[in-house]
Amino acid sequence: MKKLKLLSTVFALAMITAPIQETASSNNADILDCSYENYSQSVNYIYTCNHDHYTDLSTKQELTMHNHNSYMDDVLFIYDLIVGDDNLLTMNNDHTHTPSMSWSSNSSSHWKICTVMGCSAQSSVGAHSYGTSTVCTTCGYTHTHTYSSSWSSNSSSHWKACTVAGCTATSSTGSHIYGTGTNCTTCNYSHTHSYGAWSYHSITQHKRSCTVSGCSSVEYANHVSSSVWSINSTHHWKACTASGCSHQFSYGTHTYGNSTACSSGCGQVHVHSYGSTWSNNEQQHWKMCVVSGCSNISNVENHTWAPFMNLRRCSICGFVSTI
Ligand SMILES: [Zn+2]
Ligand SMILES: [Zn+2]
Ligand SMILES: [Zn+2]
Ligand SMILES: [Zn+2]
Ligand SMILES: [Zn+2]
Ligand SMILES: [Zn+2]
Ligand SMILES: [Zn+2]
Ligand SMILES: [Zn+2]
Repeated sequence: MKKLKLLSTVFALAMITAPIQETASSNNADILDCSYENYSQSVNYIYTCNHDHYTDLSTKQELTMHNHNSYMDDVLFIYDLIVGDDNLLTMNNDHTHTPSMSWSSNSSSHWKICTVMGCSAQSSVGAHSYGTSTVCTTCGYTHTHTYSSSWSSNSSSHWKACTVAGCTATSSTGSHIYGTGTNCTTCNYSHTHSYGAWSYHSITQHKRSCTVSGCSSVEYANHVSSSVWSINSTHHWKACTASGCSHQFSYGTHTYGNSTACSSGCGQVHVHSYGSTWSNNEQQHWKMCVVSGCSNISNVENHTWAPFMNLRRCSICGFVSTI
């Protein structure tokens, strides 16, 4: 059996490698269990390994058998064994990390290195964050925007995003343009036409437009007559059933004949109103209904004659007869 030396080969698998002090001490044979008795789990993680390791150099059987693992602060130390002399080593890792002022970085992340000699512990490890700039807002690392070949989009616009992690820069930003179709002619974003209210277009048709920004699709359709009349005091019509279309079917004035109700059947009725004006002919006088569209007459009577100069005049209507 030969003694192995516990060397200071320290692998920092996660973030931190603390400096190693190697102290030769006296032989202390036959301590084969690697107890953690001298392992103080303080925040400064003092690590002391005080024991010997033996192995058969011909087989090197224990060469990789002796690992002390500490997961303090996510730090993993592996103390490896390699063949050495008979000295026993003491390893002490005892300092407070002092991060550098400046940042270290690679293409994806940044960190600070412990400035204590021999320690390469990393702290403040993080991914670059650029915002929309090329410069990391934390460490100053610069990248060149590399825009995606494919489009990104939301409901109103499209753009090409920088593909570098942590960068939100965009280029080629624009609003969707649909023409009369449903898909953006630039990015192929698809929308469903959303038509607004109808409006009058021509004597035969009404129209409505897609309200989505960038879309110029227009729909046309023939007017459709309501089955019921609309009326005001002078006119009747049948509205187009398309809400918002101003087209009017059968628009016209009320016509009553001699009746009080409009002959169209629109439902408009009036009360005959004869006023003070007489109509007349040689024999009779009468009054006509003054309501437009009504031809009803009333008070049809023979004239009541009275002498008037050398002629005669109706004392009711004022008609002067020349006969
Ligand atoms: Zn950075
Ligand atoms: Zn970028
Ligand atoms: Zn688009
Ligand atoms: Zn549309
Ligand atoms: Zn219409
Ligand atoms: Zn009418
Ligand atoms: Zn009338
Ligand atoms: Zn008269």
